[in-house]
Amino acid sequence: MIESMLQYADPLIYQAIRNEELRQAQHLELIASENWTSLAVREAVGSVMTDKYAEGYPEHRYYGGCDYVDVVENLALQRVQELYHAEHANVQPHSGASANLAVYFTALKPNDRILGMNLSHGGHLTHGSPVNLSGQLYQVRSYGVDKETERIDMDQVRDIAREFQPQMIVAGASAYPRQLDFSAFSQIAREVGALLMVDMAHIAGLVAADLHPSPVGFADFVTSTTHKTLRGPRGGFVLTKNTWAKKVDKVIFPGLQGGPLMHVIAGKAVAFGQAMTPDFREYQKRVVANAKRLAQQLQSRGMRIVSGGTDNHLMLVDVKFSGLTGAEAQQRLQAIGITVNKNTIPYETEKPTVTSGIRIGTPQVTTRGLGLAEMDKLAQIIADAIWGSKDVGALEAQVKQLAKAFPLPGVAMPND
Ligand SMILES: *Cc1c(COP(=O)(O)O)cnc(C)c1O
Repeated sequence: MIESMLQYADPLIYQAIRNEELRQAQHLELIASENWTSLAVREAVGSVMTDKYAEGYPEHRYYGGCDYVDVVENLALQRVQELYHAEHANVQPHSGASANLAVYFTALKPNDRILGMNLSHGGHLTHGSPVNLSGQLYQVRSYGVDKETERIDMDQVRDIAREFQPQMIVAGASAYPRQLDFSAFSQIAREVGALLMVDMAHIAGLVAADLHPSPVGFADFVTSTTHKTLRGPRGGFVLTKNTWAKKVDKVIFPGLQGGPLMHVIAGKAVAFGQAMTPDFREYQKRVVANAKRLAQQLQSRGMRIVSGGTDNHLMLVDVKFSGLTGAEAQQRLQAIGITVNKNTIPYETEKPTVTSGIRIGTPQVTTRGLGLAEMDKLAQIIADAIWGSKDVGALEAQVKQLAKAFPLPGVAMPND
């Protein structure tokens, strides 16, 4: 049926999707929160599971015909619990932000106090920013990184917690290149009688591969996205102890959401299965090795890396040090085919729309197969662009060549 093919049914959308596919293939994507999902994950997400209403939970649905969606959700639950050694999981949150909101509604009352990481030091909007519901429903204080070391100072966290007496402490970040000390966070939470939520959205893949200490066992709640280092479809999940299981499930449905996105849950199940394999562990090792190498090489080319390096999949480059704003640096890299995002750095002096930094991550290019030699090349290209090389055309050609040498599987390229 030709009308059933997107190309003919809706040429405008077809073309935009095709263009996005080519954009991903022809550029180098260094956005730290992005990845490239496997064809198996995308097949699951593009399946008939999208048609099914399944309000409720496996074996307890409000609709008939749920036999096969139950199989899918049960497998997703079993796999994610095994992957992270968690007592209870909920895989229905539509996103990381929804997962966080679910935990707040489970454990807090309006006007309770939460202590989270400062947004401009690497925290996330959903950890109490005034422009997010979390900052409107609750009283919020934040901790940051030390000015000298640019690492979280656990003594400062303890001091603020003692004074502020929060009901919940939130650990986790979107732009923090160092390991988080979940044991210290949990000790502080216990000392002040707070619950601990760890949002591992960025590092979930590293945690699954034992390359970052796990928050499970330390935190009362662990939330995550599935689409960052974990390399699944866009979505979220929550892990808890059995004592919170009933309450958190009720908050997610019927408290916050209606029908679960069963096609996405199918994609999550596939991704969790993939994350249990030795291949995935090797992949995560390469992600971290690539990030370390890229940071080192950028440093050796005179760039300032926040906190002096990285322990995970991302780094922050202080481009102000090289005479640019974050927005300008993002623009310069975009012009040669490298995608990054401008990002605030600790003790930022520019507006969030301008910033002094860029955030660079290696998950997507590592999925494509780029390795240490290519990180050296990338560092040279990025540094040349930021230091203002006049030969923009040559840099663009080098990016094209790298992208071509590491094609995205399954993407048909136009003849050139
Ligand atoms: C990305 C991220 C989120 C939000 O995830 P969405 O799926 O975009 O809602 C929440 N917390 C942290 C720490 C993140 O990095």
